[in-house]
Order: sequence, then structure tokens, then C-alpha cells
Amino acid sequence: MKKFRARYAPSPTGLLHIGNARTALFNYLFARHHGGDFIIRIEDTDVLRNVKDGEKSQLENLSWLGMTWDEGPDIGGKYAPYHQLKRLDLYKEYANILLEKGLAYKDYKEGSQEYAVRFKVPKDVTYTFDDVIRGRLSFDSKEVEDWIILKDNGIPTYNFAVVIDDHFMEITHVFRGEEHITNTPKQLMVYDAFGWEYPTFGHMTIIVNENKKKLSKRDTDTVQFISDYRKMGYLPEAVLNFLSLLGWSPQSETEILNKEELIKLFDEHRLSAAPSYFDKDKLAFINSRYMKQLT
Ligand code: GLU
Repeated sequence: MKKFRARYAPSPTGLLHIGNARTALFNYLFARHHGGDFIIRIEDTDVLRNVKDGEKSQLENLSWLGMTWDEGPDIGGKYAPYHQLKRLDLYKEYANILLEKGLAYKDYKEGSQEYAVRFKVPKDVTYTFDDVIRGRLSFDSKEVEDWIILKDNGIPTYNFAVVIDDHFMEITHVFRGEEHITNTPKQLMVYDAFGWEYPTFGHMTIIVNENKKKLSKRDTDTVQFISDYRKMGYLPEAVLNFLSLLGWSPQSETEILNKEELIKLFDEHRLSAAPSYFDKDKLAFINSRYMKQLT
């Protein structure tokens, strides 16, 4: 059987927040449960939106939570994550293949020799995939307009780079936020254009606050950054345990589970599509249980 491989692919446009950490965690637990690999890829192609400490915050806080990754460029006995900006030649090569095949076309900037490459969306095609969390989802190609895969500065767009990378990094499973459901048909058309196999997708539920509103960065009532919980003295085991319950339920008598237990019990088929409620009191309760174990 093919080895399962999952990845967490943050855009370093902000610090590691609850939603990010949960995405990383489900991919991590999935990979560990199945004896597969977990990799990290920094999706840094949106250069204007990258923030200075974004990547650092992502990596440091993932390490604090105890999520380790299995490969990447060797930096003195440790692995660095992959970076998309270091792989620009690869995206260009594959955009050129689509141009040669007539599946994409050049889109010249007015009065200039520079061009972007635009994907030609096929007519009358239905794109279907079986989402682990939501079941079968279908999209008609009519819903998508021709879209840019490579900008005139040579930088790829997310929907193109993600497919090239997931393919070459041999990713078998992708768990990510539901905001990416509508991106998936674009990605499927790139897989089809190259004749590549789709990975298995699972689009996770939203996280809501006490008022049943989707957690957003503007929501100042909820502490959202993992580094803040760290500063407030929360234990990483407790935060990890709490995150695992946001949209997943273990088949066990207790919800107090350490990392090894979570790995053992993890089952992607128990991920829920219903919004998950961010319950601060529950986090405090879980934390107090872990604190007691220390004394
Ligand atoms: N860089 C994307 C994000 O942060 C990754 C989405 C995906 O996992 O495909 O939302």
C-alpha cells in the first residue's frame, strides 16, 4: 500500500492562530496514526501579504505544541520546511508544459512584453471528488473562469503551486479549511491537465465563538494566537488536547488525551462537518487537569 503523506501548508501572512494549529494538528495526527509522513510547506508566494514573523511564529509554536515534521532541506541535522519561493523554476516549467499543450495561454500586460499565464478552463466538464468530511462534491466548469496560474513576475498563484507541490511531494491526503472548497475545482483541473491522480481531500468545519459567529482575526474576545496561550502559562499538552476536539471526537470514555493517545485514537472518519464551538472554559478545564498531573 502507498505510504500516506500529509502536509500543513501555511501562508506566512500571520502568526499561528487556533484555526491554523488545528489544521496542522489533524494532518499531523492523520500522518502519525497511519505511520505516514508529515511535512511542512511554507506557501510564501503572496509576497505582499507575508509578515515578518509569520513563518517563525508558525514553526516555533508548532514545535511548542509538539508537532514535528519528517523531511525538508537539511539544515545541520534538522529539517527546514519547504518554501514555495525556492521552487519557482518548477512552477514555470509546468506552466510552460500547459502552454505547449494549448491548455493555457499567455496574457500580455498592455504595452509590454511581459505576460501572465492563464489556465484555459475546459468546457462542460463536471469535477467531482469525495470529501472525507462532506461526502461527494461536484462543480461544473461553467462556474470557473479562465484563471492566472503564473503572474507576469514569474510567481505562481496558490491554486497552481499547490497542485504542483502536492503532486511532487506525493501528498496523499489534504485536510484544510472549508474556505478552500471552492478552490478545489481549479486544482482538480490542473491535476486532470497533467493526468495526475487527485489526493484525498477533507475540508474541515469552521470554528465559532460564543455568539455562534465564525472566529475571525477581528474577534477580540477570544485569544486566538497560540503564542498568547503560551505566554499565559497554558501547558502545550492541554492546548493540543483542546485543539483536537475542535471538530473531532474520539471514540473513548474520556476527552483528556495526551498526544500519544490522540495519535492512537485518531480517525479521520470522525471529523465533523458541523461548526465547532471554541469553548474557553473547556480549555481552562483541560489545562487544570494537566496542571494537576504535574504536582
Ligand atoms: N496556504 C494555504 C492556506 O494557508 C493552504 C491551503 C491548502 O492547504 O491547500 O490557506
